Amino acid sequence: MLKKFGSLNELKIRIYLWVVPCIIISLISNTLLQNSDAIFEFDFIINNTLSIWFIISWFLLYKRLFIQFAEYSNLALVSFYHVTTFFDAVRNYMAVSGGSLGDFIIWMPIITLFFFLTLGTKRGLYYSIIIFLTTFVMGIMYINSLSSESIDSLGQFYFANLVYIIVLYYAQHVFKTYADLEMFKKHAYYDSLTRIASRLLIDEWLEKKLKAFRYKKEGFSVIFFDIDHFKLVNDNYGHKMGDEVLVELAEIIQQQLTNRELFGRWGGEEFIIISNTVGEETLKLAEHLREVVSKHSFKGAGKLTASFGVTNSNPGDTIDSLLNRADKGLYQCKNCGRNQVSYIK
Ligand code: GH3
Ligand code: MG
Ligand code: MG
Repeated sequence: MLKKFGSLNELKIRIYLWVVPCIIISLISNTLLQNSDAIFEFDFIINNTLSIWFIISWFLLYKRLFIQFAEYSNLALVSFYHVTTFFDAVRNYMAVSGGSLGDFIIWMPIITLFFFLTLGTKRGLYYSIIIFLTTFVMGIMYINSLSSESIDSLGQFYFANLVYIIVLYYAQHVFKTYADLEMFKKHAYYDSLTRIASRLLIDEWLEKKLKAFRYKKEGFSVIFFDIDHFKLVNDNYGHKMGDEVLVELAEIIQQQLTNRELFGRWGGEEFIIISNTVGEETLKLAEHLREVVSKHSFKGAGKLTASFGVTNSNPGDTIDSLLNRADKGLYQCKNCGRNQVSYIK
């Protein structure tokens, strides 16, 4: 979900873009349904002012301009509208004609949703409770002049209001936990130093590749590589320079890859490439990468080389069997003088 919307803020704006038109429609239909009694004059002015403002703020949100201003002014106006309409309904309608709150109860959830959307879980809860208590006190103030039908309607309103607050609080709490988990996963998927895939993501890629190989016979290969004598870089230039070499290496390798390859850091100075190619083609790629590394001059550390172990997917392979072969290829290179590519069938 987060991937789809980019960020929580973007998701929030998308919800606003749906909720604001609902409020505009309800305000306009409210205005159209009103009669011209003096009692409703106040309502009429408020409805029209709010409708105009919501149309403007919808465009601001749509164009992603003054987002915070649009958000908070909407919140202030929605709260003002909610409280004044409620007060108007209790004092000028229910206390006078003894009727019920009617569709006010239906539109209320959108208003509570607005509080939570703008202020987040905790502040949204506190704010909703404050607004709830304000309307509660208003109702109590007029309780003696209300008919039993009005009191019944008020009771329903308060009960529904509390239910909405609790449901929205928990819904947002659950959503936030889910979003945090997604964010945590996103961080765990990428190596904090080189910004390429971490071991966790590589494992998931391999799992998927093995499945596709098993069921669709889509072959792939693995290139496992390791910097030669990397300890010397740390010893001679310091650990920080060692880190910079790892970042630089990840960058120069990434530049050579296409969308057929997946690239990640296995750990330490060991990297892995999963390629959709097999056989000669993968060997050619590994040889090319070996050459690129050996010809590159690393900032501060100069020339370095790397060794590459290559293997193809075999029937019955598991992640372990696949990586063991690639690792075997890598150590074959190390034993034969480094800066080479070894293929293990
Ligand atoms: P070989 O040619 O046999 O691979 O020699 P090597 O020195 O590269 O081998 P080895 O794997 O024994 O040493 C790797 C070193 O990489 C040891 C460790 O201190 C260093 N290293 C591992 N992770 C990091 C890292 O994130 N940053 C830095 N600066 N060094 C790291
Ligand atoms: Mg090494
Ligand atoms: Mg190593």
